[in-house]
Amino acid sequence: MAYITLNKKHFFNNLDIIAKLCKGKDKIALVLKDNAYGHGLCEMAKMAQEYGITKAVVRSYAEAKAIEEFFEYILVLADFPQAKSDKIRYTVNDLEALQKFEKGTKVELKVNTGMNRNGIEAEALREAFECVQKQGLELEALFTHHSCADEDECIFSQQNEKFAVIKKEAQELQKEFALKELRFHSCNSAALFQTEDFSEDMVRVGIAAYGCLELPKNAHAEQLEPILSLFAQKISTRHLREDACVGYGATYKAESACTIGNYDFGYGDGFLRICSNDYVTPQGVKLLGRISMDNSSFLCSDAELLIFNDARELAKYAHTISYEILTALKANLKRVVLQQ
Ligand SMILES: *Cc1c(COP(=O)(O)O)cnc(C)c1O
Repeated sequence: MAYITLNKKHFFNNLDIIAKLCKGKDKIALVLKDNAYGHGLCEMAKMAQEYGITKAVVRSYAEAKAIEEFFEYILVLADFPQAKSDKIRYTVNDLEALQKFEKGTKVELKVNTGMNRNGIEAEALREAFECVQKQGLELEALFTHHSCADEDECIFSQQNEKFAVIKKEAQELQKEFALKELRFHSCNSAALFQTEDFSEDMVRVGIAAYGCLELPKNAHAEQLEPILSLFAQKISTRHLREDACVGYGATYKAESACTIGNYDFGYGDGFLRICSNDYVTPQGVKLLGRISMDNSSFLCSDAELLIFNDARELAKYAHTISYEILTALKANLKRVVLQQ
């Protein structure tokens, strides 16, 4: 069966770079949503713990529960509590959601600084604090999310400025409402790597930790190493005659007689079908014809074939981003951690 390998050495190298930029591994909250960007939730959580990471960010309560033993702090981005837990914090994404949390729940307020997706508006800050008090919630932090940290410096700095204003106001409200001291965080991977002198309480890093941050001309980003490789295994070998066609739609026609292999990785496993016909593996092996649900054919007859070891490269063929390549990988693929 096709399987994934996870390179621990690369992961730890990436975490070293991140820890240096954010000034301490205790400031790293590793984003493990969507099955740890396809890498495998528990596999990555366990390795992160071994490195000394104590904080994680996930999407749902179920994900938080699955990794509770590995971390001291887990932030849930978009879900509600299903049982009490000291470790889990919940994101408040708008004023309406704020009403739905039960007394005593640890929450973090997401504020909108220009992404215009989730988060309360700066103007609604006082109302949010009043609501927090009325509901008896434990407000621990305020955070925001960048829309353009990897693309547009101007919007990036506008969001930073807006967050600085919100931070000041929140600190005044915190005193007025006699709440505990608040924490603040805004950086995803791209934002951290674009920040000169990091000074916030925490970073929420995903793609950089997985080694696939794309930030042109950034010396730190260049040192990151992808940790995930995908290998497929040969199901059958075939000797093609000249002019014989391969796969659905008969889109590949052999120019001359050749030997090909059919491998056990298809779009049902997460190999995006748009890569059909054109893809060439890192070792220069050509994909032949269309990707099927559970199969793809290559001009190769080795028992095992490296399909990709840098999601950014595969993403180019699919006209997408590495995030989509990685999160497409199905959870039932076996994940093997390489210790060296
Ligand atoms: C996914 C996500 C991140 C991580 O983004 P990367 O670009 O992978 O570092 C950080 N913060 C929030 C709110 C997210 O949803």
